[in-house]
Amino acid sequence: MCLTMSAPYNVRWMKAVAKCSAGSSLCYVVSEYIIEGTSYLLMAVLAAGGMVSLGNVVKYAGCIRNMFGGLDKVIKRVPDLFLSVRRNLGILELAALEDDMYKGKLPVEKRSDGHYSIEFKNVSFKYPGTEQYALKDFNLKLNIGEKLAIVGLNGSGKTTMIKLLCRLYDPDEGEILLNGVDIKKFRQDQYSELFSVVFQDFQLFDFEIGENVAASRNYDRERAWKCLEAAGFGEKLKSLDTYIRKGYGDGIEISGGEAQKIAIARAIYKDAPFILLDEPTAALDPISEYEIYSGFGKIIGDKTAIYISHRLSSCKFCERIAVFHEGRLIQTGSHSELLRDTGGKYYEMWEAQAQYYRENGQEALLAI
Ligand code: ADP
Repeated sequence: MCLTMSAPYNVRWMKAVAKCSAGSSLCYVVSEYIIEGTSYLLMAVLAAGGMVSLGNVVKYAGCIRNMFGGLDKVIKRVPDLFLSVRRNLGILELAALEDDMYKGKLPVEKRSDGHYSIEFKNVSFKYPGTEQYALKDFNLKLNIGEKLAIVGLNGSGKTTMIKLLCRLYDPDEGEILLNGVDIKKFRQDQYSELFSVVFQDFQLFDFEIGENVAASRNYDRERAWKCLEAAGFGEKLKSLDTYIRKGYGDGIEISGGEAQKIAIARAIYKDAPFILLDEPTAALDPISEYEIYSGFGKIIGDKTAIYISHRLSSCKFCERIAVFHEGRLIQTGSHSELLRDTGGKYYEMWEAQAQYYRENGQEALLAI
């Protein structure tokens, strides 16, 4: 099904709205003069003939004015009405898109020990309508409680791996296993509960900060507070009860970095067995990113975590680093192991970043 949000359609729609609005305004002005004029004339005749008292003439004139005042408001809302119909049509069409993903029925076992293991087996994937593999022959086992970093140049397949893991798409080849079972077989709602994810394009809502953290109107205030503190939002905690964005009561405007901290606090609040951070810290400076990433290990304890960052210095603390290149996993190992391979991609990327930091007087980043 094709969405009707295309630009030519929008232009056509806007022209139709403009025409309708001009037409309705013209009709209104003409009818206003004719009806209002006739009404006043009729009242004048009736008053002159003594059939209507002077008091009633004033009353009826007021009524006519009010009626046309109201009509004026209605006519002026006509374009708004058309535009909101147009907007909602798009949403309805989007909601009506068919979901052809396989829907598993198997319940996900609830484990208080959080012992869930994930394995990618020979996974390959192309985005619909594209010819190139975004991920090719990908194999990786996520050990329980492991802190894994994924690094690689832009477009190397890091986000695609996270999207496949969350089952936003299904692999074209291979399978992803949760405790040995293909994830397609599980109930999607229960499977999704296993992951706290922060994507680069996370969204905050124009609600209170605490509600944004909990993604709910009802939330545990103390817990939300702790999660914000853990995400480094401490200094603004005083205004926790306020709204994000001005215009809502005494709401506050937050910076990109603060928004990212709220999104990270949301991931902590969800308290799921897997935490996936897909560069939510890109708007922060490298030191702040390092502090959040490395401090995260302590906050999340024995949960399994995947950290994506294009800054290698932020991922040094991870037990294992997976290096992606052009849709393939090309290296894995700890920071020091990977650096020993001086012919490898990781070494090349590390040297390139080190050079950049040295040239910009940020050598301290190499030591952290
Ligand atoms: P990374 O996270 O490493 O920057 P991605 O996983 O986002 O890389 O992208 C891997 C490849 O898939 C890139 O070539 C990218 O252009 C392509 N890609 C990503 N998202 C889409 C999409 N929605 N449709 C088509 N191609 C996509």
